[in-house]
Amino acid sequence: MNLTKQILIALILGVIVGIGLTFAPDNFSSPIDTYFLTPVGEIFLNLIMMIVVPVVFVSIVLGTAGLGDPSKLGSIGAKTISFYLVTTAVALFIGLGLAFLLQPGQEGVFDVESADYQAEEAPPIMETFVNIIPENPVAAMANADMLQIIAFALFIGVAMAFLGEKVSGIHRLFEQANDIIIWLVNIVMMTAPYGAFALIASAIANAGLDAIGSMAMYMITVILGLIVHGAVTYSTAIWTLGKANPLKFYKGFIPAMSVAFSTASSSGTLPVSMKTAQENLGVKKSISSFVQPLGATINMDGTAIMQAVATVFIAQVYAISLDFTDILMVVLTATLASIGTAGVPGVGLIMLAMVLNQIGLPVEGIALIVGVDRILDMLRTALNITGDASAAYIISESERRKEEKSANTTG
Ligand code: ASP
Repeated sequence: MNLTKQILIALILGVIVGIGLTFAPDNFSSPIDTYFLTPVGEIFLNLIMMIVVPVVFVSIVLGTAGLGDPSKLGSIGAKTISFYLVTTAVALFIGLGLAFLLQPGQEGVFDVESADYQAEEAPPIMETFVNIIPENPVAAMANADMLQIIAFALFIGVAMAFLGEKVSGIHRLFEQANDIIIWLVNIVMMTAPYGAFALIASAIANAGLDAIGSMAMYMITVILGLIVHGAVTYSTAIWTLGKANPLKFYKGFIPAMSVAFSTASSSGTLPVSMKTAQENLGVKKSISSFVQPLGATINMDGTAIMQAVATVFIAQVYAISLDFTDILMVVLTATLASIGTAGVPGVGLIMLAMVLNQIGLPVEGIALIVGVDRILDMLRTALNITGDASAAYIISESERRKEEKSANTTG
């Protein structure tokens, strides 16, 4: 049986066990979660997080050096960032539209009196931009600061492209490091079904069926938003810009989506999503190595959809009406918030505080959604990495067409 099937079966079993545990007495379910599900899930998460920093560094250095002509980097960079910004804006409009239409905050009774949430300090956006260039690349790696690692790797890659033959030894070293990483990714992935099982079972058992029931309308709105964005926005982009059948794209990319779903971490899934895009979708290595790590760090359309729905939901629960300027403010700050969201579990919710603060909504409202957020996090992460892969696919195809055209004219 192939790995994707194993992961999908593990997820189904995990859902069944998770639901079973919500019915079991606490003194039975709690030790199972603490001594079995949580540690198994965390070991799996640690295993994949262990390879993320080397993957990002090595693959971006190789990808940039492999582009050959460093000026290409500028045009690919501009295409990538435009795609990411436009799709995030579309995602926000879908989220807002559905939330206004379905009114998830008007359904049921929400206990706002006892809602309490201590907002964590969100990093100031300007600081994040200025700090993209690391003062200390070793510290950047130690802290797994993805944007800084990407910036440093770009510098090294461009230098290698310029120096060419002179640094062929280092080039070879990076290629061999890459072989080791790919080998490790394959080994770690063999444990994915166990990790997936433990993570989903624990997420459901911890949320509890009561919370899921009372938040059903909110969850449905977010999930619908994710489905619409995947089925309409990305499919249209893949069809029109990538000139490919979106169904084929999804069929090829499903293994990575299932890992993103289990881990709720775009960064963690990166080694798998790059491998899947390159092997199953035929995305050029040099494009995938640049576009996908950048996307896993700054492009979070699923997170943007959650933030849009959550903002409207909280406004509705607290009976605060949002005017046109508020909506514009949500689009602006949620775009920044989703860029600033790190690709690890739960950060989207922390960044939501920034959006709420900006338009004067009560941050305590986050307490209402925190219980079911992990399940939604799994789903939105699967969409987050699909956006990155769509960009990589479309850009890789357009480069390929350009190369074919110039080969035809010169040939
Ligand atoms: N878990 C998400 C990701 O890694 C980020 C978030 O929305 O919390 O893509």
